[in-house]
Amino acid sequence: MKRKEFLQKGLATGTIIGSSSWVAGSDDSLQKTQDKRVPRGYDVDYEEVKIERPVPGKPHKGKVLLAIQPHSDDIPLSAGGLVAKLIDEGYTGYLCSVTDDARGEGKYEQNRIDNQKIADFYGMKGSFELLMPHHQLDSIGIQDLKQRFIFLIRALKVDTIVCMDPWGHYEENPDHYVTGLAVEAARWIAGANDYPEHFAFGIGPYTPKERYYYSRAGETNNLIVDISKYIDRKIEVNLLNIAKGPAGNNGVKLRERLAKDGKKLTILEGDDYTANFNYAKTFVFTDNKRLGEKYGLEWAEGYHYMTEIPFDNHVPDPNSPVEEYIRKNAVPK
Ligand SMILES: [Zn+2]
Repeated sequence: MKRKEFLQKGLATGTIIGSSSWVAGSDDSLQKTQDKRVPRGYDVDYEEVKIERPVPGKPHKGKVLLAIQPHSDDIPLSAGGLVAKLIDEGYTGYLCSVTDDARGEGKYEQNRIDNQKIADFYGMKGSFELLMPHHQLDSIGIQDLKQRFIFLIRALKVDTIVCMDPWGHYEENPDHYVTGLAVEAARWIAGANDYPEHFAFGIGPYTPKERYYYSRAGETNNLIVDISKYIDRKIEVNLLNIAKGPAGNNGVKLRERLAKDGKKLTILEGDDYTANFNYAKTFVFTDNKRLGEKYGLEWAEGYHYMTEIPFDNHVPDPNSPVEEYIRKNAVPK
């Protein structure tokens, strides 16, 4: 079933609203994917849209999440709900901030503070700063960045990555697309035999099993994550981003502007934090609201989600010619 048909049928019948964490598509679409011989771990057609819902308990206990952001506001803005969800569901989390965000007076120091606050807010175990040049990642040797990600993935034994989608379109910021490319290459190479000096110290190889990649315009989305339970956490973490986050002091500013005209808004009443929180919830995250409504959810984030990593040598690819030959020709010994 094509994505468009799936959406129309799903919304018309309500079939995408259920209690399970996954709502899979029809068997014929799975069959079609297999027939196309899509490389393992890559959904290149984006035809199948699934819904990931909150899961009770701690199903991800023992797994490691690495959230990678070029700038201090990227994870809070683009994946603030998903990261809150995954950590609440048991992941051990780490934050990696790629650039030094050194644009404007005092920004460098404040972004360092903001990143640590974000990691602490989520209860993450660590926050890493790579301090690459802000808005100039297209000028660096990507090999340096790749190697740093490979080391982190191996040393932390990262199971799941949240980052920018290297295949997303309409991305204007070189920090975003260079980070996405370097992460995806590193994710792949981390499970291979490159850099054997790491192995001498017991580091790697290690292959992350899942990727949640977000993009500017969302054309590559094949997963909609229900963040309704975590929208308040998402707003709270964005309010911590003082240096550059758009959540900022906007509620207070609007209240002051209205007061000069002798007006007020109920959502801006109360203390400054409440005013800023309500402003953000009402005006800043409208994309999450719109995306949620499109799928019968209250609030949502969209991702290009991939699993079943090709470089995992321990799991044979069921579609490989070898496995196919075995299925057809193997006889009892
Ligand atoms: Zn950014």
